[in-house]
Amino acid sequence: VLIEDDDADSGRVRVAVRVRPRNDEDLYYDSELIDCLELQPETVLNGYNGTVMAYGQTGTGKTYTIGSLGNDNSSERGIMVRALEDVLAEISPGLDNLSISYLQLYLEAIHDLLAPDKNNIALTKDSKSGEVCLPGATVVEISDIDQFLQVLQTGERNRHASNTKMNARSSRSHAILVVHIQRSSKGKDENEFLSVNINNSEEFPHMSAFFKSKLLIIDLAGSERIDESGVDGQMLEEAKFINLSLNSLGKCINALAENSTHIPTRDSKLTRLLSDSFGGNARTSLIITVSPSARHYSQTSSTIMFGQRAM
Ligand code: ADP
Ligand code: MG
Repeated sequence: VLIEDDDADSGRVRVAVRVRPRNDEDLYYDSELIDCLELQPETVLNGYNGTVMAYGQTGTGKTYTIGSLGNDNSSERGIMVRALEDVLAEISPGLDNLSISYLQLYLEAIHDLLAPDKNNIALTKDSKSGEVCLPGATVVEISDIDQFLQVLQTGERNRHASNTKMNARSSRSHAILVVHIQRSSKGKDENEFLSVNINNSEEFPHMSAFFKSKLLIIDLAGSERIDESGVDGQMLEEAKFINLSLNSLGKCINALAENSTHIPTRDSKLTRLLSDSFGGNARTSLIITVSPSARHYSQTSSTIMFGQRAM
């Protein structure tokens, strides 16, 4: 598999590939340590911008890349923690407001990871602004990174508990962190300020500037397709809904990459949730995670094809 990325900075979608290191199982199975991947220089995925999501086969590092807390080891922190650190460093306490919701999307139902009792959160869309709203979801105001880490840990515990209760594997659901940023201060650096202002910018005459923006950070369900003919019951439901949401995500990303004016977001709850993060100046960053091992070649190549269609 050859990964090339010569023009990744143009267009509305940026793609990065992360290859996880070989694990013990790979070392056991790979008779020869020949990488099935050849990496060409890529642009680096920098910071946060609209939507950041990790797409790949289960076990290739999506959760590691997106949700890792890092245990004080800065190099191991995932995108959620890094993004929140960046935003916290930029905003002014008292003037600006940073809040989050943390959700899980499983079998087309939205579960609140910060309030385990709320397991069918409604998704509505403001008919005028097009803004996607989750009126029932818990929103927690964040003032420092330690508090965020605690909230994220609570969410992870609830994710684990709810999956046990539903007999679901975490790899069959999408985990979605919604970050709301509301600013009335002027940014320290005008460019950074603009990079936080993703969409829905509104100016109010009585304030120098008032920006509302939203950042979505998503740990997608495993991209390995389950053959719907070989399973039944809950596994069939899981397979249908994951195939539906990842297929419709793929169509939206292709449409974005082609600069199409119509992004087909209606087909799945995942894409409906993303619909206001796909418009205008919004940027979508897609992190493709793959295994280096030759025995995963076919999954790896279909994962990379998904990423290539986005460029
Ligand atoms: P996924 O969420 O895609 O199913 P995980 O994030 O759970 O995969 O990763 C599977 C295993 O591989 C974990 O034990 C994780 O710590 C390890 N891993 C994944 N990516 C990396 C990486 N880039 N560096 C080191 N370890 C990794
Ligand atoms: Mg995972």
